[in-house]
Formats: sequence, structure tokens, C-alpha cells
Amino acid sequence: MDIRQRLEEREDTLSPYAMKSRLSRGRMVEEEPCSMRTCFQRDRDRILHSKSFRRLKHKTQVFITPLGDHFVTRLTHTLEVSQIARSIARSLNLNEDLAEAISLGHDLGHTPFGHVGEEVLDELLPFGFRHSEQSLRVVDVLENLNLTYEVREGILKHSKGRKRILEWPNDISTLEGEICRLSDVIAYLNHDVDDAIRAGIITPSDLPSEATHTLGISRSQRINTFVKDIIFSSSAGKLDMSPPVLEAANLLHEFLFQRVYSVSANCTEAHRSRRILRLLYQYFNSHPEKLPPGYQGEEGTVDYIAGMTDQYAISQAKDISK
Ligand code: MG
Repeated sequence: MDIRQRLEEREDTLSPYAMKSRLSRGRMVEEEPCSMRTCFQRDRDRILHSKSFRRLKHKTQVFITPLGDHFVTRLTHTLEVSQIARSIARSLNLNEDLAEAISLGHDLGHTPFGHVGEEVLDELLPFGFRHSEQSLRVVDVLENLNLTYEVREGILKHSKGRKRILEWPNDISTLEGEICRLSDVIAYLNHDVDDAIRAGIITPSDLPSEATHTLGISRSQRINTFVKDIIFSSSAGKLDMSPPVLEAANLLHEFLFQRVYSVSANCTEAHRSRRILRLLYQYFNSHPEKLPPGYQGEEGTVDYIAGMTDQYAISQAKDISK
């Protein structure tokens, strides 16, 4: 028996609601299984070693660089989501490797300059632009990772917009995918509060007191409340939160949209980022010969621009305007 088979057998002790790697619907192109890793562990490693993953460190989450070294980037956000998802998956005896793989891949399709970038491409393109669809395109086409169905599904369906927490369509076939979707919200609710205070957009006393009363004030208190609450409120294959914590989370969520995201999307840096992306889009669309090899047409322009880091987009725009 090889190591992978032993690891797969170990998964028999997981909850009956866990997605077992042996039962995966598999890859689009069939491959010889690895002798050391389950299919989900292998997917996680493929994502981690991709170039798109490395570029996350220079992509904005909410607050556009270069405000300071302690602001969350797409990379640290991704790692926080992954850690929260793993803690929940492990405690509920679900497949931690699957939760980790989905989490590490979920935001690979994000544009430079955070949601401002996504909004610009969405306006410019006839069929719109959604980062979750682009994340799937990154792993499927641009990085050609040939991932399993369950990881690809979790990546594609992680996004939930402004909907109230947990009132999402019931459209993910694994609990690990649902955990990733919830962990994404928990991570950004937590770090965006911190970053907004750090950026001077709000002060701690602006936070809705009903929310801080339930969740705690510090970063560690908030995370701890959320993760514990999810673990102890979930049961029998259903992911849940207790009514007071869910209410506090929704309050904080709405507060961030009203008081923080609207401000960060209208600052000088955000307007400059919009101009840069429009310029890049117009330029590469009318000069397709300037796209790097492998990128073609409007699709290639979008792939190229969406893949850029903030700094690379800025330097490209400078070169073009010379
Ligand atoms: Mg995310």
C-alpha cells in the first residue's frame, strides 16, 4: 500500500458529511494518482506553487497601496481564509485538505486594485467580469492546473456579494466549499475593520456597539467568537451560526459597506486606479501585438490585465503614456 492509499484510508474516520478524496468526481483530464498525496492535497500544492498565487502578495484587498506594510493584501487575506477554513473543517471532522485547497485558490482571479479593478472590467466588458469566474479561468486555462471537480466548484461559487450572511443559494455540493465561502466573510469582516481604523476612515467608537458587544473588540476576540460559534452551532451536515453572532456579523457587514467600502472606492487612489485600468484596456485592445505570447484578442487583454499586480499595472500605464 502506498502513502496516498494510507491517507485515503485515514479519511474513513472523517464525518459522514465530509468529502472523501477517494470519492472525488475527478479531473477534466484523467491523471495517474500521486503516490504520496490525496487528490485534494495535490490540488493545494499545485495552487500554492503557481505564479498567480505569488502575485497575490502585490494585489490590493481593499486599501490601495502603498499605505503601509501592515495592511492586508490579497495574499494575507487568502492565508487568513485558509486558516479559518482549516480550523472549522478540522473541528467538524471534515476534509481539511479540500477546505485548504479551495481557500488558497478562491481569489486567484482578482484584478489589481481590489474591487475597484473588478468594477472597471465589469463595466468595460460586454459580458461583464466576475473575479470568481476569473479564478476558475486562472486554474483551468491560464495555469492549466487540471484540478478536481470539488476544488473548482468551491472556487467558482465562493462569492456572495452583499447578501446577508448564510442566506446564500444552496449550490455547493461539499460542506468544505461552504466553509470556504463563510470563512472568506469572517476573514474580511475581521481584517477590514482593522484596516479601516488603520487608514483613519473610522475609529473604534464608530463600530456598531451591538456588534462589538457580541463579538468582542480586538481582532483575536472577534475571530475567536466567529470560529467557535460556527463550530458549536453547526451540526448534522449543516453549517450554521447562532442567532446573536449571525446578527452581529450582518450588522458589521452592512456597516463596512456603508462606512468603509464606499469611502475606499471613492478616494483619490481609487480614481487613479480606474484611469489606469481603462487606459490599459484601451491600449491592449487596440494594440493586440503588444500582449505577451499566449494572450490573444479581448479575452487575452482581460486575462493579462486581471493578472497584473498593482505595481505592474502602474508601471505598464506609465510606459504606455510616455
Ligand atoms: Mg476572498
